[in-house]
Amino acid sequence: MPNYDIIVIGAGGVGSAAAYHLAKDGRRVLLLEQFRVGHKRGSSHGASRIIRYSHVEHEYASLAPDAFALWRTLEGESGAHLVLETGSLDFGPADLPALRGRVATMAELGYNAEVLDQAALAQRFPQFRFPADWVGFYQPNAGIVNADRAVATMAAQAVRHGAVLQEESQVRSVSVHGDGVVVEVDGPQGSQTIHAAQAVITAGPWAGRFFDQLGLTQQLTRPLKVTHQQVIFFDVATHALEMWSAERCPVYICLPMPHFYGFPIAEAPGRIKIGLELDGGGIDPDTHPRELLDSAVDELCGLVEKHMVGIIPKAVDGTACLYTHSPDEDFIIDHHPEHPQILFAGGFSGRGFKFTVLTGRLLADLAAAPGRYTSPLWRDLFRLGRFENAAPDYVSTLKL
Ligand SMILES: Cc1cc2nc3c(=O)[nH]c(=O)nc-3n(C[C@H](O)[C@H](O)[C@H](O)COP(=O)(O)OP(=O)(O)OC[C@H]3O[C@@H](n4cnc5c(N)ncnc54)[C@H](O)[C@@H]3O)c2cc1C
Repeated sequence: MPNYDIIVIGAGGVGSAAAYHLAKDGRRVLLLEQFRVGHKRGSSHGASRIIRYSHVEHEYASLAPDAFALWRTLEGESGAHLVLETGSLDFGPADLPALRGRVATMAELGYNAEVLDQAALAQRFPQFRFPADWVGFYQPNAGIVNADRAVATMAAQAVRHGAVLQEESQVRSVSVHGDGVVVEVDGPQGSQTIHAAQAVITAGPWAGRFFDQLGLTQQLTRPLKVTHQQVIFFDVATHALEMWSAERCPVYICLPMPHFYGFPIAEAPGRIKIGLELDGGGIDPDTHPRELLDSAVDELCGLVEKHMVGIIPKAVDGTACLYTHSPDEDFIIDHHPEHPQILFAGGFSGRGFKFTVLTGRLLADLAAAPGRYTSPLWRDLFRLGRFENAAPDYVSTLKL
């Protein structure tokens, strides 16, 4: 008999969520993490991530209420405060497809939101200074998820429900063994060979290694790509502290290029955090230095000076972080086409955190019915096989 029902590989946002739901379902779970939970080399560190309803695609927008509900359930079970509602503002020219698409999808789904012209923006949100022909798309129910606390809470809840968490344990390989799986691990006890009925790969920026090993990369038009991203902290001038408080200021996203997004004062007293979406080539998550790029810091300082009122345009701190991009920028959540006992989830780029608790639930549902897509959270958009008929040179742009 295998030692575990299911092995979860990677305890970032998605893996800790999967372990939490699987253990809560009564499965015997082993959660393996190559570093320690909460480390800063992957995609899920930092105390703030935007959570919002507004997406162009119905698939994501329609899942937003479930994501919020699952975060609230986790808060109730753990006592941890994870989601802070601040509202959110998306900015851009009124005819920008990314903005029009969001407005249309939100209206079709009956969500609460409103378009604000410059006069309304100046009155309600004087923190921002955008061109006269731009509008703001405001949603009151959006906000901030505390990512560090969420990962720690989900991993702790998994353990509370009986999961075994093994840190500093790097999985070398996953292979099929009869109807089950065998996982080779290098950990504190040396090399281990662990058997289980199923495995879930939630390795974030390292997922490509497993995709290669399991023959999944060839199902994509091109491999998963990992990019360097960074967030920068700025001090708020004393006279503007109230205006930038989480009670008065929503989270915000500038949709046209250069895309940037940010938060009110939340992570550090008197400071706001802003991120600039960086394109650029793929990097190796093992060797890439997590340093801040000066050119991007300078660009962000310029954007702050131009568009934000009462912020001192000088970077005071920052952190690097990684995105993992699927070829079409949509999530990949599925089971192996030939071996349904192997599940995987990857390609969460810059919008996956808000859904981690839901992705974990979906993975637990998929694991309970191998090879079937009966979960109410399932969306065909997540399927690995969607790339089958795509042209080899298919190109997609970053989706926010
Ligand atoms: C700067 C930045 C800003 C973002 N902003 C937002 C936002 O505002 N809203 C939002 O919704 N999303 C946002 N995101 C995206 C979101 O944070 C990510 O999509 C999400 O955190 C991805 O989680 P993950 O579990 O896939 O990856 P990770 O958190 O990186 O987890 C993968 C884990 O697997 C482990 N692992 C890998 N290989 C192995 C192995 N061989 N053995 C054992 N363990 C292994 C890794 O160490 C890691 O801990 C942002 C991301 C970044 C970088």
